[in-house]
Amino acid sequence: MSMPINADLHCHSVVSDGTLSPEELALRAHQNGVHLWSLTDHDVLGGQARAQDAALNLGMEYVSGVEISISWMGQTVHIVGLGFDPSNVTLQDGLRATRDGREERARQMAAQLAQIGIENSYEGALKFAGNPELIARTHFARYLVEQQVCRDMDEVFRKYLVAGKPGYVSHRWASLDQAVDWITGAGGEAVIAHPGRYRLNAMQMDELYARFKDLGGAGIEVVTGSHSPDQYQTYAKVAKRYGFLASRGSDFHDPQESDIDLGQLPHLPEHLTPIWSAFH
Ligand code: AMP
Ligand code: MN
Ligand code: MN
Ligand code: MN
Repeated sequence: MSMPINADLHCHSVVSDGTLSPEELALRAHQNGVHLWSLTDHDVLGGQARAQDAALNLGMEYVSGVEISISWMGQTVHIVGLGFDPSNVTLQDGLRATRDGREERARQMAAQLAQIGIENSYEGALKFAGNPELIARTHFARYLVEQQVCRDMDEVFRKYLVAGKPGYVSHRWASLDQAVDWITGAGGEAVIAHPGRYRLNAMQMDELYARFKDLGGAGIEVVTGSHSPDQYQTYAKVAKRYGFLASRGSDFHDPQESDIDLGQLPHLPEHLTPIWSAFH
């Protein structure tokens, strides 16, 4: 039996809501023993060239990456794209349209927070955003921790910024069909990110898998920083049932905030076919 390779195909840089540069992430991945790496910033490709250059200089293999926000049955779902052509114009235009709503959303979030006495959170979040085009709830959460409104990010995402809590603004992202089309149209593989995180019932998840498969979706994340070991088993079964390739990724954002570091995950269960079998 051959040694499985250390692939980490999900993480974030300052180009979206991570805190390290693409170069710092590449070095950290390399130091942690990663052989095949992808930077998957939210809805943006601005870090791809730097990530690829840094990876290749360190002797790692690199595949292009992105994590696209979509709306599905009233919930936000994330679709990771891997191994696409980053110069594809339809993909770039689609991602730009997806990003465009974020500023207005952020202003509405700040207005809600101001109503409960948390002032200047738009400006505060923007200070944490490495890319003003990509202001995320993560940046608001860092501001609330800095202002000692909450002790840590977990507390923020329990008490604020989520459905039913102050600072939550519902948002219409891209559709599933669009995200899969953009990725596959650019020659890449579409992967359902952290399926264990969605507030969808079993029937709705089955509908998501079936529709995604019909559209040409290739894989699901099985081993991710967002899953418990029990969930590795659950989603391994889903991969088998639907014939999905399996992906592995830490979803690393920041050395302090992230529980799972780059490349520091269990390997995929052996009976699964890894998504990297699709890259040549
Ligand atoms: P947005 O795309 O603006 O809706 O922000 C979503 C981001 O918030 C995710 O990509 C995570 O980085 C972060 N996030 C969501 N839920 C949590 C959580 N429970 N703990 C820490 N970060 C979270
Ligand atoms: Mn994030
Ligand atoms: Mn995600
Ligand atoms: Mn992510």
